[in-house]
Amino acid sequence: MIRLATVSPCYNEEDVLELSAQRLTSLFDRMVSDGLISKDSLIIFVNDGSKDHTWDIIQRLHHENAYVCGINLTRNSGHQNAIMAGMMTARQWADAIITIDADLQDDLEAIPQMVCQFTQGNDIVYGVKVSRTADPWLKRFSAEAFYRLQYQLGGVESIYNHADFRLLSRRALDLLAEYRERNVYLRGIIPMLGLPSTTVEDVISERSAGQSKYNLSRMMGLALDGITSFSIRPIYGIIYLGIIFLIIAFGIGIYVLHALITGTAVPGWSSLILSIWLVGGFILISIGVAGIYVGKIYQEVKQRPLYHIKDILTHESVD
Ligand code: UDP
Ligand code: MG
Repeated sequence: MIRLATVSPCYNEEDVLELSAQRLTSLFDRMVSDGLISKDSLIIFVNDGSKDHTWDIIQRLHHENAYVCGINLTRNSGHQNAIMAGMMTARQWADAIITIDADLQDDLEAIPQMVCQFTQGNDIVYGVKVSRTADPWLKRFSAEAFYRLQYQLGGVESIYNHADFRLLSRRALDLLAEYRERNVYLRGIIPMLGLPSTTVEDVISERSAGQSKYNLSRMMGLALDGITSFSIRPIYGIIYLGIIFLIIAFGIGIYVLHALITGTAVPGWSSLILSIWLVGGFILISIGVAGIYVGKIYQEVKQRPLYHIKDILTHESVD
């Protein structure tokens, strides 16, 4: 029988925590009596520097509930780093870990299926969203466009419509721990582990309470990370763009020459100003893209820790 741990990052989730713990607990009870997981399995909540009563609730749940454990980060470190904190801390405690957002929008029924796939020898089991009808239209559209772009840029071998709902075996976590990069984009790194993997279906539902913490800028940030951490094609794109600009500049050069010869040079001001703007824009874009990569190099060489843990709540059975 395997010892399972779920890891749920929580950022200002006081509204949903109780319900989440309840639903996970009844699922765990059922899986224990079905003989799928052991009684000392764990429900781990990672408090990602919440400003509300999230940690108080986790502490209370820990006292009331034999499954619930808590990890408290000193400050808000972001979704991906909170997941990392939970997985790396709990790595020694369980045979397999399932990451699932605290709002339980993912399909709980996929969890027993993931465990079955794990017992059949899969180190990684991805939850793949089959229906995103509960997601707002814009989010669904942008997510799909993003997965497609990422696929076309070729940098990331990511699983289509898979977010961070997945099972990882201890072996997978040990390998993951060897990736020392700072720009964590788990959806891209995990397929690179190369371990046996499979997928299960995940029917997304509405957030049970509270609000989405992923606003447009956070989503853009994750999307940019997902591309620039894995693909250098944007740089090539810029080079091609540069070539096109040079061709345009050549055309403008001929035009200017023609204007000079025919003596109509003064009206050429408009084409000049146009090219200044075009070239200026091009230079700015190139600097921007190069800057992203330089920024990443900067972050990587610093080798800063991804998170610092303030407290850990466990049960005695955990060593
Ligand atoms: N989250 C976190 N740190 C953050 C932002 C979000 O740990 O800085 C958690 C949040 O509590 C939730 C999960 O990440 O459990 C996903 O966030 P949310 O449900 O708001 O995003 P969505 O499902 O709308 O993409
Ligand atoms: Mg959510």
